[in-house]
Amino acid sequence: MNKDDIRSLTRIGRSLWGDLDQSVAISEDTLTSVSLLNLSDDRTIERASKVMIELAERNPPTLLKLNHPFFRLAPIERFLLTTAHIEKWSYDRIARTLGIEKTLLEPWLWSIRLKFCFQETQSGLEYPRAPGTLGPSCPEYNASAPWSQRMMDDELGKRERFFLQNHLMSCDKCRKALELTRKMIFKVESLIPVKESSQELELANDRIFNHWKEGEVTFRPIKLETRQTLIRFLSQPKVQFLLAALAVFCFYWFTRF
Ligand SMILES: [Zn+2]
Repeated sequence: MNKDDIRSLTRIGRSLWGDLDQSVAISEDTLTSVSLLNLSDDRTIERASKVMIELAERNPPTLLKLNHPFFRLAPIERFLLTTAHIEKWSYDRIARTLGIEKTLLEPWLWSIRLKFCFQETQSGLEYPRAPGTLGPSCPEYNASAPWSQRMMDDELGKRERFFLQNHLMSCDKCRKALELTRKMIFKVESLIPVKESSQELELANDRIFNHWKEGEVTFRPIKLETRQTLIRFLSQPKVQFLLAALAVFCFYWFTRF
């Protein structure tokens, strides 16, 4: 775990609660309890995020809705936008955190982006849509999970990326579709109010990081190297007794023949 992980967690906390003090306090408490599970750093952040979403859904901070359109979205929708846009988490990581299939994530993310950009705010942008009539080599445009979103989120497979990069050089219609998606995604990103940092927030991040480090030393077993783990395993009385029994058995077995 490093300070960037902590920053990530407090930004996710701010996307859920808005209020700096409250989100820092909840992020800190959640991290402390999830760290006891002794998961990897990535999994610790993911599990803590899941716990915080559940907390925010049980106790939604209603007053925030007045302040910013972002807070009119549901907590889980704010989490999705924050992790996709600000934290740049992969679809795999977001889906794993929420315990959903990756194939469900794409249309969900697309619909939240559209809703946020065109219903919750007056963006004045042109609505992203499929190219009018597809040419013979145009990729299929799935209106609920288009390739243009995958491209902007850097989620294309190698072959799909290669094909699209070549195709876009010669197809105005698909370029236009990508351009509309790009504008919408940039607009959404500019409207997520958790990016700015402050001295106050950095101090809070430092404090959470130091608490976490203290917890690593005090409450959780030190992560051992493989050799140390083996030595510790072999030095257990039960294991030593079994090894001795095995040695005696082998001795008799060999001396019989
Ligand atoms: Zn095309």
